[in-house]
Amino acid sequence: MQDSNYSWPIEPKYKVAEHDKYGIRQNHYVLFKQRAHSGFDITADIGTEVHPIMSGTVLLAEFDGTTTEGFDAFNDGYGNKVEILNDDGRRVVYGHLREFFVKPGDKVKKEDVIGITGSSGGSRVPHLHLEIRKENTEETGLDYTINPLDVLPKINLEELNKEFILEPYASLWRKMVSNNPWDFTKNDVTYSESKEYIR
Ligand SMILES: [Zn+2]
Repeated sequence: MQDSNYSWPIEPKYKVAEHDKYGIRQNHYVLFKQRAHSGFDITADIGTEVHPIMSGTVLLAEFDGTTTEGFDAFNDGYGNKVEILNDDGRRVVYGHLREFFVKPGDKVKKEDVIGITGSSGGSRVPHLHLEIRKENTEETGLDYTINPLDVLPKINLEELNKEFILEPYASLWRKMVSNNPWDFTKNDVTYSESKEYIR
C-alpha cells in the first residue's frame, strides 16, 4: 500500500456535515431520498485551487452532467470533473469544479493545480467531491470505491469549525451541519431549478 503517499487535494476548513461523508446518505440534497455517496465532499470557497492527491496521468477532463433521476443535465452528475489515474493504479475523480486546467494525457504531480472548486453539476453547496476508486475503473458506487478518509493523511474533522457563509448556499449548509442534518427539503434548495446558481 502506498496510502501514506497521498495528500489532501485542498485543505479542509469548514465543518463537516453527515451529507459530506462516504457511505449511505439518508437524504440526498438533489434527489431528496436515501442514496449512496461514493466519495467525500470537502466544502470549499469557490475558486480554491485543487491538487492531485498523488502523481498520475489525466484520463478525463470534461463536463459530466449524467442525469440519474429526471434532473436536467446541468443540475446533476459530477459537473466539471477531472479523472486521474494515480501512479498506484487507483482512479480518482475530482468533481463539481468551476474550471479545470488539465487535459487527457497530462502527467500531473501533487504540486500542480488541476482546477478550481465550484458547484457545477449535482452540487448545491460549493465543494470538491473526491472519489477514490479501488482500481482503474469507470464504475462508481460503494463496491468500486474506498473511503477517502481511510487513505488520506489523518486530520481531526471534529476540529474543523469554520462556518461557510456564502449565500445562497450557506442556508442549506447550515441545515446540513445542524443537529438535524437530514432535515432539509426541496424548499431549502430554492435555486435548484435555476442555472444561475449552479456554477
Ligand atoms: Zn460527493
